[in-house]
Amino acid sequence: MEIKGGKCVVFSAPSGAGKTTIVHRLIEKIPSLSFSISACSREARPNEKNGVDYYFLSIDEFKSKIKNNEFIEWEEVYLNNFYGTLSYEIEKIWNENQNVIFDVDVVGGINLKKYFGKKALSIFVKPPSIKILEERLRARKTESEEKIKIRIQKATDEMRRAKEFDYILENNDLNLAVKEIQEVVLKFLASK
Ligand code: 5GP
Repeated sequence: MEIKGGKCVVFSAPSGAGKTTIVHRLIEKIPSLSFSISACSREARPNEKNGVDYYFLSIDEFKSKIKNNEFIEWEEVYLNNFYGTLSYEIEKIWNENQNVIFDVDVVGGINLKKYFGKKALSIFVKPPSIKILEERLRARKTESEEKIKIRIQKATDEMRRAKEFDYILENNDLNLAVKEIQEVVLKFLASK
């Protein structure tokens, strides 16, 4: 199969659905995929690096980039936590003849699909249930109890928007989910 650059694959899901793990696995398996590093205004977690996981910006820096039209899309995903896709980042990846893989929230995913149209494949990662989602968020131990509650409320609303995506991937078993979506993504990248 010949895979050229210039396309994008967008992964969205409620927080804790396993989307980031799936995205990392796909990057290992499909070398023509490059991760779109988003900008965000939250603090880096201990295991995260600036310019690798995100471009970590202050709220003021983020707002000035909004003003300068540097984003394809941006969202205040949580109060005072801004996240956005930089146009520059996508140009850079496409110039290297690579395809872009995104890890964004549900509204961001819908907006990116609208923006890129047929060049994009949008995938919604569906957790087995909200209860399991809550357990996964707790096990991750990166968020406070209050933040977990906020993420669960948001997840409940986001589940209703799954049908607006090109593909719904049920993540009941991580290895099976990766195998399933790898085939779908390869087919999309090879299509004209
Ligand atoms: P986290 O704080 O857990 O890294 O990310 C919170 C949420 O923001 C996740 O759903 C993540 O996918 C999303 N996110 C990350 N980057 C972007 C972006 O550039 N745009 C949008 N809309 N959401 C993003």
